[in-house]
Amino acid sequence: QIEVRGLHKAFGDLEVLRGIDVTVARGEVVCVIGPSGSGKSTLLRCVNLLEEPTSGTVTVAGTEVTDPDVDIDRVRRRIGMVFQSFNLFPHLTVLANLTLAQRRVLRRDRREAAEVARANLERVGLAEKAEAYPAQLSGGQQQRVAIARALSMDPDLMLFDEPTSALDPELVGDVLAVMRSLAQEGMTMLVVTHEMSFAREVADRVVFMDGGVIVEEGPAQRVVGDPQHERTRTFLARVL
Ligand code: ATP
Ligand code: MG
Repeated sequence: QIEVRGLHKAFGDLEVLRGIDVTVARGEVVCVIGPSGSGKSTLLRCVNLLEEPTSGTVTVAGTEVTDPDVDIDRVRRRIGMVFQSFNLFPHLTVLANLTLAQRRVLRRDRREAAEVARANLERVGLAEKAEAYPAQLSGGQQQRVAIARALSMDPDLMLFDEPTSALDPELVGDVLAVMRSLAQEGMTMLVVTHEMSFAREVADRVVFMDGGVIVEEGPAQRVVGDPQHERTRTFLARVL
């Protein structure tokens, strides 16, 4: 579903990604872990071309997104993205937040968009919040709305960039539970996270990045539970 080959990304003289190869198969959950500044967000942003790679190729659902002729808006439509900040429109109700892009981008009519939105609110456990405004929700609820909004576009795969790291600790669990159920439903997911128990329990594979390269990758239990590289061990000792 996602295939990253020989990916390099530099900002001026700063080489942030220095040859990344990652594959995420359909239905697979891959977690990316690593210290601050190691290039995790940049990798995710290169997958949907929010950043343009310096070299290398990225293929998503059979389409090479790094091909200059590709219609990137079409590709992006198939990729759901959830960030640390929820980016909901504050002046719109939850329902309106969920129907907006469906109507504008997918050209769904009001009724269909609302039906899809309500089904996805149900999925994240917030069916009763359709008429609420974002400010009336907790951070965890807002993040679940953001996930429901992404799901309403029927994505083939989901990218998550530290979706729980802006949340109060007691709100993290609800968001992780939603992500866990998505994983169980077979959603293809590439997840940057500091939640090591989530990585160990939910991910099929874990990728450890440091300094713009993948230092170690493998089955989640092994990378988190029994890392082979010194740098992975040092990192895990700090975060666990
Ligand atoms: P964190 O865990 O703190 O989120 P990260 O692994 O996601 O870190 P990135 O955000 O990918 O790291 O950043 C990697 C490096 O690239 C950092 O040194 C950062 O300062 C630099 N960087 C990221 N985006 C830009 C940009 N648009 N222009 C210049 N430098 C950038
Ligand atoms: Mg980041």
